[in-house]
Amino acid sequence: MSQTADSLLQIDNHVNGAGLETTSGKRQDVFNPATGDVRASVGLSSAEDVNVAVAAAKKAFPAWSETSPIKRARLMFRFLSLLQDNKDKLAEVITTEHGKVFSDARGEVERGIDVVEFACGIPQLLKGDYSDQVSTGMDNWTFRQPLGVVAGVTPFNFPVMVPAWMYPVAIAAGNTFVLKPSPTDPTSSLMIADLMKQAGFPDGVFNVVQGDKVAVDALIEHPDVEALSFVGSTPIANYIYENCAARGKRVQALGGAKNHLVVMPDADMDKAVDGLIGAAYGSAGERCMAISVAVLVGEAADRIMPKLTERAMALRIGSGMNEASEMGPIVTDAARSRISGYIDVGVSEGAELLVDGRSLQVPGFEDGFFLGATLFDQVTPEMKIYREEIFGPVLCCVRVDSLDEAIDLINRHEFGNGTSCYTRNGHVARTFGRRIQVGMVGINVPIPVPMAWQGFGGWKKSLFGDMHAYGEEGVRFYTKQKSIMQRWPADMEDGAEFSMPVAR
Ligand code: NAD
Repeated sequence: MSQTADSLLQIDNHVNGAGLETTSGKRQDVFNPATGDVRASVGLSSAEDVNVAVAAAKKAFPAWSETSPIKRARLMFRFLSLLQDNKDKLAEVITTEHGKVFSDARGEVERGIDVVEFACGIPQLLKGDYSDQVSTGMDNWTFRQPLGVVAGVTPFNFPVMVPAWMYPVAIAAGNTFVLKPSPTDPTSSLMIADLMKQAGFPDGVFNVVQGDKVAVDALIEHPDVEALSFVGSTPIANYIYENCAARGKRVQALGGAKNHLVVMPDADMDKAVDGLIGAAYGSAGERCMAISVAVLVGEAADRIMPKLTERAMALRIGSGMNEASEMGPIVTDAARSRISGYIDVGVSEGAELLVDGRSLQVPGFEDGFFLGATLFDQVTPEMKIYREEIFGPVLCCVRVDSLDEAIDLINRHEFGNGTSCYTRNGHVARTFGRRIQVGMVGINVPIPVPMAWQGFGGWKKSLFGDMHAYGEEGVRFYTKQKSIMQRWPADMEDGAEFSMPVAR
């Protein structure tokens, strides 16, 4: 990070333990979405910049992978403590570049810290399995070894938490890492790199390359990148999955979402309204686990709609640094226009627009990228606003007659990231949990983001690949199993064996 004469922050790469300028000559503005001001400029790496970072990671790998897991864990503990000390600084940068309210940004940092805490247990997580005497005089054991250089490509909406789904587990497991964060809010990636350095991680273990598609393609194509973790929109997730797989790389690519929350007629309506309002409009709906569809079963619809409308209209929208704000601005002006366009489409498709956020002005922040909470009723499954991910503060309400209809509706959707059901009936809850074709399910929990030791991942077009992020799935993703069989000369029989060896 450096400052130019006109005091614009310059964001570039972090390679081999030090800042390194990008060489492409291409840069992108980084905005403060609350004010609309340009606050920084981020360099966009060339393929050669990426090659330099991968080379540094490759050089660091032999010594790092030979470092004992307990020593790797001790450095992770130091990093954990530095993260705790810098929680508010990180959250402030998130709010400044992303727009989400400060308390939400703090929550994001804490959920990232959870994964670092999990990674501190790496000696236990890497413990193998041992079988004594699999044949007379012979033992067999399995253990897991790191892959080498691994990379992470992350989205704008959780600039601290989503990278932390990847690098703590990858690095603790003995890999070296290259992170390619979103160019929309890149500053926190360099703060993390600095904290890793302060914690004592050897140079080259954690590297950051800023950039766009050029940098991502260079990582996909680089023969020394063994695995790639991606989180972002579905078309790019699909692209990453296909192109990594074609090159024999291990890949997990988490995509977009359209998360439904079902309200049964027996639910506590006030709690369901709280759940819907927080999950639809928190972080301006820019969460992959945001609720963007309310599925109102039977008489739940008429009971809940007036309360939902009242609360959506009363939402306090303003700068994320204002403690009174419940929702901040949209991340960019382009994203705001895209979301507004979806609201236009919803109206033209015949959905009933109960709360319209398109003309919101926030006094004192007239140039900020604000959009108000928006609420549609009478949305149907054929409508574009139902089918596509809007990724903004727009809640679509669909009315159905039964639990079966609600489950079928959700199961027919192409996304399967998260879902939730509000009910007081245990049988309904159990049926919903078992039959729903979605990776992460909440019962009276609106945003069921799994804890660090459980693992995160959707189904269908919300995840391409076999393994979820973090948790034990993460450890498996970043390691490969090796099996060793041993016997010692005193136990060895003489002579060649030509039949398939079997236990004796
Ligand atoms: P995005 O797909 O535009 O970008 C994600 C990353 O891919 C960024 O680093 C970006 O620079 C890179 N990228 C963009 N275009 C590319 C291209 N053509 N080729 C190669 N790389 C490219 O996503 P975003 O707008 O930053 O984030 C929002 C999306 O992420 C939403 O769809 C949201 O649902 C999804 N998301 C999913 C999860 C999940 O866990 N499933 C979590 C967070 C966000």
